[in-house]
Amino acid sequence: MVEESGIRKVFEEARGVQDPINLCLGQPDFPVPDAIKNAAIDAIRHDQNGYSSNRGLDPLIAALADHLAWDLGWNVSKTPKPGSGQASVIVTSGTSGALVTAAMCLLDPGDEIIFADPYFVLYPPLAQMTGAKAVLCDTYPDFKLTAARVAPLITPRTKIVLLNSPGNPTGVVMSTKECRDLAALCKEKGILLISDEIYDEFAFSESVTQPAAGDPNVLRCPSPARIEHGTSSGEQENILVIRGFGKTYGVTGWRLGYCAGPSWLIDRMVKLQMHLYICAPTPFQMGAIQALRTPLGAFVDDYQKRRDLVCETFRPYTEVPTPGGAFYAFVKVPEKLKMTATQFKDLAKSKRVLIVPSSAFGRRDTHFRISFAAPRQTLESGLKILAELMK
Ligand code: PMP
Repeated sequence: MVEESGIRKVFEEARGVQDPINLCLGQPDFPVPDAIKNAAIDAIRHDQNGYSSNRGLDPLIAALADHLAWDLGWNVSKTPKPGSGQASVIVTSGTSGALVTAAMCLLDPGDEIIFADPYFVLYPPLAQMTGAKAVLCDTYPDFKLTAARVAPLITPRTKIVLLNSPGNPTGVVMSTKECRDLAALCKEKGILLISDEIYDEFAFSESVTQPAAGDPNVLRCPSPARIEHGTSSGEQENILVIRGFGKTYGVTGWRLGYCAGPSWLIDRMVKLQMHLYICAPTPFQMGAIQALRTPLGAFVDDYQKRRDLVCETFRPYTEVPTPGGAFYAFVKVPEKLKMTATQFKDLAKSKRVLIVPSSAFGRRDTHFRISFAAPRQTLESGLKILAELMK
């Protein structure tokens, strides 16, 4: 049976807490830019309320193909023809929809999928739902899913390596070389690399180090899927990129994501999506076209300042690997407290602060996740209380 997520458990437990300081929430706290809201409202007013095609709305597919060409150097088909061999894209119901659909298309009972411990809470159920085996790669203490850590875990049954950078729950970002080495390992072994890049736009200044394929003057978050100068597009044929709109533009309730990869796989996903939930919500797909044109720099700068505040607050007491992106920090419970992370979470809860222990994200119970996607004042008061508890 698939278990309730550890994050949900913290939410349920927190119901009794009066006036909680919630540092668990993994969604941006900025208001959605008006242009994006208006595009969805206009679509509803103009009667675009029916199904879209299973793959997604044509103008959104075209906008995504342009974006992926500029960002990753991918030649994505705007009018996909089955069997053409060209990369394709599908619009999905959230990033979760992309992950579940991909897993169902790829994994048979007994197959193996490798991902990091700590992981995003949906990853183990991807294996449970398909009868596959989740193979956890311990990435403590720096939380990088490096080729050196993955290589010994590969067996003849390994079908997928699943990378998430910037990562949830750690915020850690892989370097260009680390991405490249992992992609090369997967290619050599004939394994599909799924790159969950839901936080790709939330990368802080020191982590945006890889030039966009279409403009060497613009630096982006490193991706194993990006085609660099001097490499051929064939290098990318065993990579599936999954991205979302929810976290990026503050519209998690719109349930929108997308996925690009080899057309044989995307075609299978389109067929399965038809039976799972038919298509992503149509008016919000219109909103997504506008979202792709909306710059987010000011929000990301603000999150970087909050990240700095989180690191400065905890560093005198404990280890915090610098979150290079997303909006989470993964903090070690100071050893001198002689507590598990679950015990520390309970102590913090008794002071009204809600955090998630690492046991929700893997085998260890030593760290906790805090989200800095909380209003500044909430964050500051929560940090003050947590620092007091660590003293
Ligand atoms: N992948 C990761 C790493 C996430 O953190 C999340 C959401 N917390 C998802 C996927 C799913 O996001 P969505 O709301 O787009 O389904």
